[in-house]
Amino acid sequence: MSIIMQGHGGIEVVCGPMFSGKTEELIRRVKRAQIAKQRVQIFKPAIDVRYDEKKVVSHSSQAIQSEPVQKATDILIRLKDTTRIIAIDEIQFFDEEIVTVVKKLADRGYRVICAGLDLDFRGIPFGPMPMLLALADNVQKIQAICTVCGAPATRSQRLSDSNDTVLLGEKEAYDARCRAHYFYEPEDEQVRLPIKEEVSQFIN
Ligand code: ADP
Ligand code: MG
Repeated sequence: MSIIMQGHGGIEVVCGPMFSGKTEELIRRVKRAQIAKQRVQIFKPAIDVRYDEKKVVSHSSQAIQSEPVQKATDILIRLKDTTRIIAIDEIQFFDEEIVTVVKKLADRGYRVICAGLDLDFRGIPFGPMPMLLALADNVQKIQAICTVCGAPATRSQRLSDSNDTVLLGEKEAYDARCRAHYFYEPEDEQVRLPIKEEVSQFIN
């Protein structure tokens, strides 16, 4: 099943926590498009060099050639005439400009497949993801397996005590966790989500 009809532009977002299979799903969609002889270009932010400088690589060692780019507009510059489909992995690492780029491409008739973390390690929506999710034509939110209890996991647990939003490195640095086994104690009150006062009494 093609998620966006051939010849029609649109935005697909695959999101979820670490280890949920976002990259596998992106590779699966790209391979199916290639079987259909559609030209695909795959991009990733240059910051993501965990497994390979150029390839998009899943935790299950599936890999596909990609073009690392420094910033969102580089995708427009590198676009080839024959390309019909654009796949972008780790899209949460791009700045807000990626939203304009992705929307522009979809409006121009390209199928844009985006994969990225919906939440950061603090459980807060990651960078451009909220906008992308709202603008998407199709969203797939996938779950990993909680490493504590085996339940479906929706959160990425940081195992080190670094407070940087971006901390690369995988197996040693993060775990997939369900809501019950996810733990984050913000030292800084500002990282809490804004909650209206009348609601906060029911939550805290
Ligand atoms: P993502 O891009 O979402 O981080 P990948 O597509 O790279 O995920 O990898 C998914 C694969 O990771 C799974 O198919 C499985 O082989 C492996 N894996 C390792 N730990 C877990 C976990 N806790 N839950 C689910 N899959 C895991
Ligand atoms: Mg991935």
